[in-house]
Amino acid sequence: MSTFWSVTVVTLCKYKRIGCPWQGPFHELTAHEGECGHPTKTGNELMEILDEMDQNHKKEMQLYNSIFNLLSFEKIGYTGTDFCSQTCHKKEVQFRPYRTDDFITRLYYETPRFTVLNQTWVLKARVNDSERNPNLSCKRTLSFQLILKSKVNSPMECSFLLLKGPYDDVKINPVIYHFAFTNENNETDYMPLPIIDSVECNKLLAAKNINLRLFIFQIQK
Ligand SMILES: [Zn+2]
Repeated sequence: MSTFWSVTVVTLCKYKRIGCPWQGPFHELTAHEGECGHPTKTGNELMEILDEMDQNHKKEMQLYNSIFNLLSFEKIGYTGTDFCSQTCHKKEVQFRPYRTDDFITRLYYETPRFTVLNQTWVLKARVNDSERNPNLSCKRTLSFQLILKSKVNSPMECSFLLLKGPYDDVKINPVIYHFAFTNENNETDYMPLPIIDSVECNKLLAAKNINLRLFIFQIQK
């Protein structure tokens, strides 16, 4: 694939461990490390930086612990088990591009209906929150919406997670979302899809389809 050759290897400053955020191409690394301000910071300054790093680490641990907790729920479903009974590679939720009928058409993505936890669902996604002309902006984001298509007898309170599908290598940060689906209130707001950066997002958009795996955890009362 041609993109394979154009990947720039990003290097990190060796003082990253004490908080230097620098990253850049390898040929600039030595020059940066020579003038990096981090090794000459005082103990107190470093303590502050390390404190902040500890806080971030703690938040990350809390997130992973929450995911582990979700995994012990009784009712867990994910695309890939029910969506397609055939042994094909297209089991994951697959966003396909569409254009709106507006005067100025907008690009959006929608998945075919799929079944998880015995309910029918659809996912929609839009680029840069449907801004008029996303091509004029170099920042690229995707937001998505989960819609319950089938009728439910009682509110269905769920946590859900979107992760990369098995045949994709897009980098998504795990984020847990919550929503109580009812017949009257059957769609979530548009929420940012936590793709790590615009480069990853463009990579995803350049692909013909977007394949993600959706996990739904039903909260039992
Ligand atoms: Zn540095």
